[in-house]
Amino acid sequence: METTAQHPIQDLLKTHFGYETFLPNQEEIIKNVFDQKDTIAIMPTGGGKSLCFQLPALALEGTTMVISPLIALMKDQVDALKANGISAEFFNSSQPYEEQQQVLKNLQNGDLKLLYVAPESLPQLNFILNSIKVSLFAVDEAHCISSWGHDFRPAYTQLKSLKEQFPNVPLIALTATADRATREDIATQLSIPEAKTFIASFDRPNLYLDVRPGQNRNKQILDFLKNHSDESGIIYCLSRKSTEKLAATLKTKGYKAEAYHAGLTSEERNTVQDNFLNDRTPIIVATIAFGMGIDKSNVRWVIHYNMPKNIDGYYQEIGRSGRDGLPAHTILFYSFADVIMLRKFAEGSETETYQLAKLERMQQFAEALSCRRKALLGYFGEHITEDCGNCDICKTPPKYFDGTLIAQKVCSAVARLQEQEALGMVLDVLRGSQNAQVYDKGYQKIKTFGAAKDISWRDLQQYVIQLLNQGVLQIYFHENGRLLLTPLAKKVLFEGKKVRLANIIKEVEKVKTERAP
Ligand code: ADP
Ligand code: ZN
Repeated sequence: METTAQHPIQDLLKTHFGYETFLPNQEEIIKNVFDQKDTIAIMPTGGGKSLCFQLPALALEGTTMVISPLIALMKDQVDALKANGISAEFFNSSQPYEEQQQVLKNLQNGDLKLLYVAPESLPQLNFILNSIKVSLFAVDEAHCISSWGHDFRPAYTQLKSLKEQFPNVPLIALTATADRATREDIATQLSIPEAKTFIASFDRPNLYLDVRPGQNRNKQILDFLKNHSDESGIIYCLSRKSTEKLAATLKTKGYKAEAYHAGLTSEERNTVQDNFLNDRTPIIVATIAFGMGIDKSNVRWVIHYNMPKNIDGYYQEIGRSGRDGLPAHTILFYSFADVIMLRKFAEGSETETYQLAKLERMQQFAEALSCRRKALLGYFGEHITEDCGNCDICKTPPKYFDGTLIAQKVCSAVARLQEQEALGMVLDVLRGSQNAQVYDKGYQKIKTFGAAKDISWRDLQQYVIQLLNQGVLQIYFHENGRLLLTPLAKKVLFEGKKVRLANIIKEVEKVKTERAP
């Protein structure tokens, strides 16, 4: 393409953004966009998604339309672009009328390289968009279009017709939500079935992953802080009240800590946030309202006082530490009381089944008996074969036995069930259960029926969960959470890959006896 020849993307990267090299996948994504192809870009938070449309916007002829649900962050992004000498504006309902009119005029005159717009406001621009050259549509936070997702925005459904209206304008959808179902839903909803999907690695090897039983959390936190007294960190709590209580406790022990939650005035919140960013208050005790859009590189630790409601949230929150690439410590306190409370929150919601399935997966992660990083990355569809060496389990592993045969049986059953069934049915088939659901579907006839009848239901269930945590299996969260085989499963089935399992019941008993006074 002519424009790229004039401005090799490497030059643009340097002159307009001041970077020497691309982050993983950025270059490939940008090239795909230059080829006028539709793109789905999946990158973890901080992975550098913005550049994937900002750089093409500069080089392509016309205006790039950026659709973003985060009105609060639009101004910051536009200001940053302007500071780099790039003509950009935003258009949303929070703007005064005159300002809106000025933006429309600039758009009409072709003066803008980028226009950020809220999905609700897009219809207002329709008329102009049909009369100007649009170089690219960038749909940021694209998971918001999936009604399955954790962040569904009804206004995003309007984007369904974009491709129909502008068939010749390339579209890039960006998100940090990587599960396969959401990915597929994005392609369907945006009518870009042919889009090339790029998935950047979600691994953050410098984060130490630590999961601990939730007993005596306060004492455990105080002990931890003794060795981390000068460092910046965030403690996430479930309720506003507990943020204040814990912040007060820390203060009485001489730590500089402040609470942050949505119940504070915006002025108070800004002050707390500023104090944190400028290292005046090193410790923030917050609800998950804290952190969105915060780019502080030297957060050295994140503690989850309560278990998050899903792995997506957990990953986002621990990801706020160690952005500078230096070692950072994360601790998740796990208690069954939290699980009960989180279940109550999910109940009655429209997406209850989905939310409960995600919660259950979070709980399984917390109970994992194999490398945490394997489990975490497996959840995002990334399957590593080696243990990480930088998590609590790698540091003190349980006793394993050779579970290869069991794993083969389980994988084989999942395969013979065409990856259509959820955990319960897979267990029933493996154990040869004589129940109506099994017979209705004719599963008593498949080869693996009863292949694991010598193992108790409870043990077998635990083994399958361990296979999930090891990334051998994966859950398709939509459609009742059916089990899928991953590339590792194929290695187990066909290449003799060895699998280690632990006997969870024995492990739990061991922990109990260790703790007994
Ligand atoms: P995301 O939207 O994926 O969370 P951003 O686009 O906000 O990520 O980028 C995260 C950070 O990485 C920003 O501070 C951005 O300036 C920086 N960044 C983006 N691309 C590069 C690059 N090629 N080299 C270095 N830093 C980059
Ligand atoms: Zn590990």
